[in-house]
Amino acid sequence: MTIDINVISEKDRNSVLHPFTQLKDFATGKIGDPTIVETGKGIRIRDAHGNELIDGFAGLYCVNVGYGRTEVSEAIARQAHRLAYYHSYAAHTTDELAILSDRLVKMAPGKMSKVFYGLSGSDANETNAKLVWYYNNLRGKPTKKTIISRERGYHGCSVISGSMTGMSFYHDHMDLPLPQIVHTGVPHHYWGANPGETEAEFSARRAAELDQLIETLGPDNVGAFIAEPVLGTGGITPPPEGYWAAIQAVLNKHDVLLIADEVITGFGRTGSMFGSQRYGMEPDLVTIAKGLTSAYFPLSASIVGEKIYRVMEEGADRVGAFSHGYTYSGHPIGAAAANAVLDIVETEDLPGNAHQVGAYFQAQLKDRFAQFPIVGEVRGVGLMGAIEFVGDREGKKRFDPSLKVGPRVSKAARDRGLIARAMPHGDILGFAPPLVTTKAEIDDIISIAESAVRSVM
Ligand code: PLP
Repeated sequence: MTIDINVISEKDRNSVLHPFTQLKDFATGKIGDPTIVETGKGIRIRDAHGNELIDGFAGLYCVNVGYGRTEVSEAIARQAHRLAYYHSYAAHTTDELAILSDRLVKMAPGKMSKVFYGLSGSDANETNAKLVWYYNNLRGKPTKKTIISRERGYHGCSVISGSMTGMSFYHDHMDLPLPQIVHTGVPHHYWGANPGETEAEFSARRAAELDQLIETLGPDNVGAFIAEPVLGTGGITPPPEGYWAAIQAVLNKHDVLLIADEVITGFGRTGSMFGSQRYGMEPDLVTIAKGLTSAYFPLSASIVGEKIYRVMEEGADRVGAFSHGYTYSGHPIGAAAANAVLDIVETEDLPGNAHQVGAYFQAQLKDRFAQFPIVGEVRGVGLMGAIEFVGDREGKKRFDPSLKVGPRVSKAARDRGLIARAMPHGDILGFAPPLVTTKAEIDDIISIAESAVRSVM
C-alpha cells in the first residue's frame, strides 16, 4: 500500500492524542512530524520514508519473537475466520483459551491455580489489586488492604496501577496515588547504597525498611507487595544480591501477598522463563502481558495462586458469582496468538537465547561503555540492559537535566539507525531487543550505540 505521508501526518496531528508526547510541541510542529511505522521484519522496523531502524527496545519491551512472524499472524487469521469472538463469562470457553490457560498454570512460577485475562498490563494489575482485596474480605481480614509498591516501580497508568507506579509524573495533575497504595525504597545499589555498603547489606537494609513500614502501617492493614523482579521502566535495574530472599522473608512473616509484575520479565527476557524463577521469588499473583503474545494482539493475564483461589472458591456459596470481567477477557484471537507465540518461545528456546546472547550483550556493554568518563554505571541481565550517564563519575553526580544527555544519546542512536530508549530518572539509555536477537545483531546494536555515545562526549 502506498500512503501519502503528508496526508497521514496531518490527519494524525489533527486527531490522535498521543501518549507520552509534549502536546503543544507536537501540535505546533516543534518536534516534527509523527514517525509513520509501516513494516517490521526480524528485529527491524521500516518507516514510511523507507528508513530502516534496528528496534533495540522490541517496541516497548514486547515484540520478543521479532516482527513478521507468519506463524503468529496465520494463527490469528485462522482464529478470526473460525470464530472471531466469544466471551468467557458464565463458563464459556474456546479450545485456544483452555489450552493456553493450562500451559500458563503449568509454566508459571509459584503454586498457581487459575488464569484471569485482560488486555493490558495496567488492567491486569488493577485485577490483581482487586483480588488482594477480595481474598482478604472473603477470609475475614477486611482491613488487610494496603498495597506496597516501590519508588520507580512501573505497573501501568490506570487508576490503581498508576497509583502503584512509583513515579510522580504519572501522579501529578491526575489526582493519584490512591490512599490504599504506599511506596517503599527502590533497590538500586549504585544510587542508594551508603559508602562501603555491600549489595547484600544494602538488600538487608531495604528489607528492614519494608519490615518497619509494615509494622508502622500495622500488619493487619497490609495486603500485598507488588514489584517487578527486575526494575524496568524505572531504570532497567536488576536486584542487588540477596534482595528477593530478604524481601520474601519479610512478606512471609507478615502474611503479605507477593504480586510479581512479570509484564517485562515474563517469557524469557532475563534468561529464565520468568524473572521470579531466576530470583527465587514465590509469588501469589503473577502479572503477564507484553511477551505473552509478543504484542501481536493485546492480551494480559493475572495468574492466581492456589492459596488465593482456594479462598475464592470456598467463599462462593456466601458471595455468589465472581463479579469481575471484561468483554474481551479470554479473547479467542488473543489466546490463539499467545499459543502460537509460546510455541516459538519453547521450540526456539528464547529464554536460552536471552541467557546466551544476553551474556554476550552484557559483556559487550561493560567492555565498551563502562570506562567512558560520562558513564556512571552499566547494568542489566539477559536481554535487558542500561547505560547510565553521569556528569561527575568520581563524585557520583548526575548531569544537569537541562543538558538532556540521555535524550541526546537516544536521538543520536536513532539518527544512526538504532532505537534505544532514553529512560526517565536520570540520563539512562535502555535496551531490550527482541529475544530472537543474534550475537551479530548485538554487534550492530553495540557499535551504533558506541558511535552515538561518542557523539555527545
Ligand atoms: N507492568 C510493567 C512492569 C510494565 O512495564 C508495564 C508497561 O510497560 C505495565 C505493567 C503496563 O502495561 P500496559 O502498558 O500494557 O498497560
